[in-house]
Amino acid sequence: MKEIKTSGGDCCATPGLMSVEQAIDNILSPAVAVEETESVDILDALNRILAEDLSSTIDVPGYDNSAMDGYAVRSEDCQQSGVKLPVSQRIPAGQVGEALQSGTAARIFTGAPVPEGADAVVMQEMCEAATVADGEQVTINTVVKAGSNVRRAGEDIKEGSVVLKAGKRLRAQELGLLASVGLADFKVKRKLKVATFFTGDEIVLPGQPLKAGQIYNSNRYTLRGLMQSMNCEIIDLGIVPDTLDDTVKVLKEAAACADLVVTSGGVSVGEEDYVRIALEELGELSMWRIAMKPGKPVAFGKIDDTLFMGLPGNPVSVFVTFLLFARALILKLQGVDDCIAKRVSVTADFDWPKVKRQEYLRVRLVQKDKQAVAQIYPHQGSGVLSSASWAEGLVEVSVDREIKKGDTVDYLSFEGLL
Ligand code: AMP
Ligand code: MG
Repeated sequence: MKEIKTSGGDCCATPGLMSVEQAIDNILSPAVAVEETESVDILDALNRILAEDLSSTIDVPGYDNSAMDGYAVRSEDCQQSGVKLPVSQRIPAGQVGEALQSGTAARIFTGAPVPEGADAVVMQEMCEAATVADGEQVTINTVVKAGSNVRRAGEDIKEGSVVLKAGKRLRAQELGLLASVGLADFKVKRKLKVATFFTGDEIVLPGQPLKAGQIYNSNRYTLRGLMQSMNCEIIDLGIVPDTLDDTVKVLKEAAACADLVVTSGGVSVGEEDYVRIALEELGELSMWRIAMKPGKPVAFGKIDDTLFMGLPGNPVSVFVTFLLFARALILKLQGVDDCIAKRVSVTADFDWPKVKRQEYLRVRLVQKDKQAVAQIYPHQGSGVLSSASWAEGLVEVSVDREIKKGDTVDYLSFEGLL
């Protein structure tokens, strides 16, 4: 077994343990994004990773258009409030009007092309329309500035410019953006194949009765949910008994069919922990004791070209180590350009004593005096899954830092992570 040393020696307060930051570096360094791409229809592209830079072939907006329902005018005609202008035409969205003659106004609606000659739109709330002997007339009850309420051609996107770069995960707003330039299909990375299995003689699937000494396999659903939300193709190899033969067999099968293998349990140093030994038989193992809580033991390695990440068995440890390590690794393998989790500052609404391992506390944000304040779940045990369900994110507490109510702390939101 290879124990990778931290570059700056042991982590902080606990000798022999690696820091979270170093572990993330070690995990990301051998990870190479999948190369294969496929074309997708924009309707099926949510959460896929763009595999090419996409440029626009049009200006957006494509023409100067009205930002308001109102009257298109020449601003030079309206340099004082109360000017009366004959209404020469009516331009709804989807129609092109005629050039606006000096001294006239055009009734116009939001999104309609501003007629040639007009350089401003006055919103209808500032106008009074009246029918006069020779037609419609409008009184403009304001001084009009050139350019007001006109959305300029190309002000959002210029023809020829790159709209999105390869490596971008496509959220709803990216799909809207691509649609706005008329793109209906494009290249994305193929889905990452992640094989997973769950070790333990004690675990059974929900829906089955529990015998004495058994527990339900909650990790399967936590991990599957996390990987589904990251749009992975999951190969679920089920529950694996605590024997070396079974573990070697399933690990071999997993490595042969996936880009990455993510497992739960069996990575500690107990006699019933076989994942480590199986990995050493089949490939290379780097086993780390990470200076963090929850989730100290994390195994990382490789079988041929397939990366392996063995997460701990405790349900909260699985959740937290997935978010910190597996998430970043999956993003990098998927080809996402930005895989580092963002911390934001919030105010602690709790005290927490100095810690020897970096802690990840399950917290929820509440609004107090216009500030986001983190409240802590009272029971922070690594088996207390209720804490993860109650929480909205994690407060990261570094080694030797004591937290007092009112202190600023680093917060990782679950929403931001997934
Ligand atoms: P291990 O890492 O295998 O020693 O497991 C650590 C703890 O996590 C033990 O209490 C296990 O019973 C529990 N555990 C392991 N796998 C699962 C699972 N799939 N679902 C829920 N708890 C688990
Ligand atoms: Mg076990």
